[in-house]
Amino acid sequence: METIKKSNSNDALNTEPMKNVSKQIFLNALACPTMGWVSRCDEDFGAELTLGERFRMDQGTEVGRRARSLYPGGKLTSLNFGVALRETKEALADEATSSIFEGAFLIDNFAARADVLARADGGWHLVEVKSAANDRDEFIDDMAYTAMVAGRCGLDINCVSLLLVSRDYRLGMPDEKLFVEIDHTDEVLTRVEELKPLWQEIEEITRAPEKPAPRLIYECRQCELFGECMGQDIDNHIFSLPRLNQAKFSELAALGIDRIEDIPEGFSLTEYQVRVVDCVHRNETFVGEGLSDELSKVTWPAYYLDFETVMTAISLYPDVAPYTQVPTQYSVHRCPEVGLIDGHFEYLADPARDCREELARNLINDLGEEGSIIAYSNFERAIINGLAGLLPDLADRLLALTDRIVDLEVIVRRNYYHRGFCGSTSIKRVQPVLIPEVKYQEIGIREGDSASAAFAYMALGKDPDPETTRKNLLEYCKLDTLTMVKLHQYLMGLIKNHGHV
Ligand code: SF4
Repeated sequence: METIKKSNSNDALNTEPMKNVSKQIFLNALACPTMGWVSRCDEDFGAELTLGERFRMDQGTEVGRRARSLYPGGKLTSLNFGVALRETKEALADEATSSIFEGAFLIDNFAARADVLARADGGWHLVEVKSAANDRDEFIDDMAYTAMVAGRCGLDINCVSLLLVSRDYRLGMPDEKLFVEIDHTDEVLTRVEELKPLWQEIEEITRAPEKPAPRLIYECRQCELFGECMGQDIDNHIFSLPRLNQAKFSELAALGIDRIEDIPEGFSLTEYQVRVVDCVHRNETFVGEGLSDELSKVTWPAYYLDFETVMTAISLYPDVAPYTQVPTQYSVHRCPEVGLIDGHFEYLADPARDCREELARNLINDLGEEGSIIAYSNFERAIINGLAGLLPDLADRLLALTDRIVDLEVIVRRNYYHRGFCGSTSIKRVQPVLIPEVKYQEIGIREGDSASAAFAYMALGKDPDPETTRKNLLEYCKLDTLTMVKLHQYLMGLIKNHGHV
């Protein structure tokens, strides 16, 4: 089933007051009629993008631009949909035009734009360009929608393929090396036949005067409308069960259960899920017997460590493969005892160059020779291991750091659960519940995705105010480690109060 997404710039496919059905509206409606209706009828839907979403969109645009260089002499149609419709018609009729970029199609209120159309054996080869490096099932529906609309407009599509980003591409190589092409003709043309009968139904559902009544489906779990739709007024939704899989969800949904309180006793769940259910039933917080023991393994001084990274389709630096996670900054708070900070160290790379070696040397220096390194999740260990693989001269010293890592999230997951976590122990879920005094809202960057995008924009020279961004990035990362210091302190206080020490 499709992931429900916001609209994107390609969805500016309108010639009338009522939006035409675009690819994203169609795919959203396929997954959930309510979402399809909202995507088409709610003017505000998808209007606000996070920095991370905007960056991914810009990246897709750049990858699309480079893909066009693979088809010299092609005709690029206008951004204006009405103009593009006319230009596409002219280009299709002009035998001298070998390929068309962003070709526009409109029929019976269904609109589409094709990334690339190339003449092939008397018909047309449809090429979908993605800034992803891995093929995904959902791309078949993407291509099938475009092929379906273009086909209804009379285009003979005899070949369909996907251009993905090649992991072998390195900065400075010619554009053709950026792509790998995968033929999907058979799957897409088969899927077109499956989608065709839904055409009329989706048109009617998405333009109905009333929003279709929502129905709880597994996709609701990740739907951005969940809080105002199926999750509205439900404090302990079954989606708060950690790692609730589709099969277990279906069992609960078949029983008509959407609240944890209503799960019958004896219903088969994992140990962790049972803990969450118990906490809800008893309206209590879970504190595990092992909390004291596990925290007592921390040796002092403790160093609380957090990294930020950047990961882009087109590498920012030479000799870096697409989608490599490049560490760009860290924050370290040092405490000689719990809650007492006696040092803060930070590093933020110069975006104009690959600073990984410099970052690693600073890190080794800042983390000292002994004492626990406290991280939250396995991410910091993975980044240090990656640096060790990249920098043989520093490998021993870097790997020695990983021996000192204590993963605070693992300790929390095993020993502490508060209903406010809603099934997740991620720091962004735990912090507002236990450490509300830390205020991310007061700085310009609030989550890792935006931090990564902000850094990438600086590296690409597209940030109008890099000084402010640097300040925000440093503040953001510093808050992450400060949160860990306070969380550790909170947990120690809990042990004292529960008499475990
Ligand atoms: S919360 Fe569920 S029913 Fe509501 S719009 Fe999202 S996917 Fe559809």
